[in-house]
Amino acid sequence: MTAVPQLTIKWAGNEYQIEGLETHQTVYDLKVKIMEKTGVKPERQKLLNLKMKGKPADEKAELGALALKPNFKIMMMGSLEQTIQETQTKPENLPEVLNDFDIDEEEIAIENREDYLQKIEKRVRDYEVKVIAGPREGKKLLVLDIDYTLFDHRSVAECGNELMRPFLHEFLETAYEYYDICIWSATNMVWIEEKMKLLGCTINPNYKLAFYLDSRAMISISTPKYGLIDVKPLGVIWGKYPQYSQKNTIMFDDLRRNFSMNPQSGLKIRPFREAHKNRGTDRELVGLSKYITLIAKLDDLSNLRHSRWEKYIETHQQQ
Ligand code: MG
Repeated sequence: MTAVPQLTIKWAGNEYQIEGLETHQTVYDLKVKIMEKTGVKPERQKLLNLKMKGKPADEKAELGALALKPNFKIMMMGSLEQTIQETQTKPENLPEVLNDFDIDEEEIAIENREDYLQKIEKRVRDYEVKVIAGPREGKKLLVLDIDYTLFDHRSVAECGNELMRPFLHEFLETAYEYYDICIWSATNMVWIEEKMKLLGCTINPNYKLAFYLDSRAMISISTPKYGLIDVKPLGVIWGKYPQYSQKNTIMFDDLRRNFSMNPQSGLKIRPFREAHKNRGTDRELVGLSKYITLIAKLDDLSNLRHSRWEKYIETHQQQ
């Protein structure tokens, strides 16, 4: 008998170690182990990146056949019975999801210091962007964060649609007319690909995503207030694709610190959290569709103050 290496289950923002399984045991046995740790019943678990020959692994598949590497992280979706009941009866009773990753929303002024520019140059040289449909001629660039921007990654659910920000596809369809769409998330490429698939963004006939960047394209900068933080410098994209610049790029993120290197180009989106509670009321992407459509006419976006996007719509909509 051979032991399966220790595995990590990532679910609703937490990680659980799973060990003590053997290669002749099945995916179902793994799900039972996961239930012991998380309380989620096997039939309610969806193990997103557990694949066999490129397809989701069947519950009857033997773990030995999956060639699992030590500490392989499995991304799980799944609801607790209790949570499902609470959601169905009293959505307001869902516990407040704490976001331990947000530090503050205060703007952080960062000089374009020489050492940061060197780090950016290094990313331009060494980092490989994951090209999906690629750039098109004459389009502006929209850079989007995933977690809490397009998707509530901390709530529990059985399918991506439950956690998707309302009007996401309509928004992307509008954006696609004027902008190449880049996804930049502070996770790794596997998660990004899985999440975009889960949200149905890879097969929508009305738009195509241009390319993805992950955490490896980020750089660390030092700030007086927060110490060392990782940020998403647009210079990496601008270095790779000279057709984009401060004049035609806009970036959405729920964390302002992510655009510390490019405060001018960043728009701080209201975070989409507690999907079950807020799914019916969140209209952020409806308003932002209007905004990006209105500003798409401009030759230069660098004079705009994106924090006033709602005001901009009010004053320009009638014209
Ligand atoms: Mg985010």
